[in-house]
Amino acid sequence: MTVEQNGPLAPTGAHVAFIGGTGRSGSTLLSRVLGGMPGVCSVGELCWLWSYGVTNNRQCGCGASFADCPFWTAVGKRAYGGWANLDAVRATELRRRLTRNSRIPALWTGGRGRFAHDLDEYTGLLDRLYSAICTESGAQVVVDNSKQAAAALIARRVSSSRLSVIHLVRRSHGVAYSWSKSVPRSDMGGREMRRRSPARTAVRWTADNLLFETIGRFGTPRILVRYEDFVADPHAETERILAFLGVPVDAAAMATIGPDTVELGIDHSVWGNPMRLRTGRERLRPDDTWRQQLPPSARRLVTALSLPALARYRYLGRAAPSRTE
Ligand SMILES: [Zn+2]
Repeated sequence: MTVEQNGPLAPTGAHVAFIGGTGRSGSTLLSRVLGGMPGVCSVGELCWLWSYGVTNNRQCGCGASFADCPFWTAVGKRAYGGWANLDAVRATELRRRLTRNSRIPALWTGGRGRFAHDLDEYTGLLDRLYSAICTESGAQVVVDNSKQAAAALIARRVSSSRLSVIHLVRRSHGVAYSWSKSVPRSDMGGREMRRRSPARTAVRWTADNLLFETIGRFGTPRILVRYEDFVADPHAETERILAFLGVPVDAAAMATIGPDTVELGIDHSVWGNPMRLRTGRERLRPDDTWRQQLPPSARRLVTALSLPALARYRYLGRAAPSRTE
């Protein structure tokens, strides 16, 4: 098991559990299961709040539009005195400028000049947002499913919050296949989800995992969760993550997790995979479609481009995957 807790913890403010890793690794499912636990509030991919939520008024996970959602209305009022007082265009611009892999060296150090000023401004906005989510939800932990390493490095700089990282990894072949296929978005009138070639996904996957390993080594508590382990034993993995976060296990909530099913309630995810809108019983399965659908040439390429990390996370060989490192 990889749990690194060698950083000082701030005494006050929100405890943010940031799900980090490559998109299409099952993070929406994980965040929703965690969000169903008392003491935990899952808000989806929070980095998109300024554009998809405030500016474009997309559908919240609860089904209401962002502007009509009572939870987000209360959060906006508490954080900024109402969303009308927030310059969402400016916030979106800051997110675009800061949340880039090319900015990662500067995000480690804090940067200089205009970059440092932008970073200060943006972390100030996030600080108020995380605190307001915590207060309005009454939760002790806020799950932010923004996934990108750059976003985690920004969240790490929010002064009154403390950050923990749930490093989620799914086999690179499954992730590559998921990015290569056509998936219509039910929350955007059937518009297709973004696609990426298997080679680009494999390179990205390797970089993302390396970055989250590094973030864990530099003082941010980190737990490694393999998607395959989560769907194989969601009960045990959820308990392990709650223990890492310091959230007491609630027997009634845990009873909603079966051996291969979970009961999804309603949450207020601001953005994410379209499955964020589904409620009720969800069957969990390993999703090995890539074994049939990913062409052999693409499969070999993905293996070659992600080999060291495939070995590190024990995706090579015939042995049954283990839950822990
Ligand atoms: Zn809502």
